[in-house]
Amino acid sequence: MNIVLLGAPGAGKGTQGQKLVEDCGFAHISTGDLLRAAVKAGSELGVKAKSYMESGQLVPDQLVIDMVKERLDSDDANKGFILDGFPRNTAQAVALDSELADMGRDLDAALLVSVPDEAVVARLSSRRTCKSCGYTAPAGTDTCPRCEGEMYQRDDDKAETIQHRLDTYHTQTAPLIEYYKGHSILKEVDGNRPVDEVYADVKDLLNL
Ligand code: AMP
Repeated sequence: MNIVLLGAPGAGKGTQGQKLVEDCGFAHISTGDLLRAAVKAGSELGVKAKSYMESGQLVPDQLVIDMVKERLDSDDANKGFILDGFPRNTAQAVALDSELADMGRDLDAALLVSVPDEAVVARLSSRRTCKSCGYTAPAGTDTCPRCEGEMYQRDDDKAETIQHRLDTYHTQTAPLIEYYKGHSILKEVDGNRPVDEVYADVKDLLNL
């Protein structure tokens, strides 16, 4: 299956995506994780992306589209993929459709994980992320439960940047809900519940 995950930052896309990957063996393509790795490595892409990410703005489309195209070409994406954090606007969605059409593939579902803004702000401000594997957990978790890496607070999970990221989501990304409704592949799950309850519904919605 080829799936796009939609939802505000902190809605739980990464967590649900990770569970789908563990259960179904799909490739998990998180553009945020790929970009953070590029910044950490100091690559040309990372140098270009850094300031946008720090201020909660979207990285320019072409940089992200090229990065995703390259990733979709990898062998592990052939057996199905979960795109997490991409597309973030209509231009990216159109580029994705055209790339998949060129590859003779298409999307099976766009899964919207819905969470109210107040819950997003609370979750993001108390979120800690593993420096090594990207696993996320609430504040108070100092060691990653998955790989024992060091947990830290992402710069863009600090209060001053969270509102900006939410504004960016509402103005640029939320219009994709109508876009995928128009393609008859939108599915919506209430993400404001315990992880396992959300995941049970996700599997039902995707017929897994
Ligand atoms: P995320 O981990 O998905 O919240 O992404 C963290 C940051 O990476 C975002 O605030 C953007 O600056 C950048 N980013 C991630 N995905 C994209 C994308 N599809 N288009 C543009 N910027 C992105």
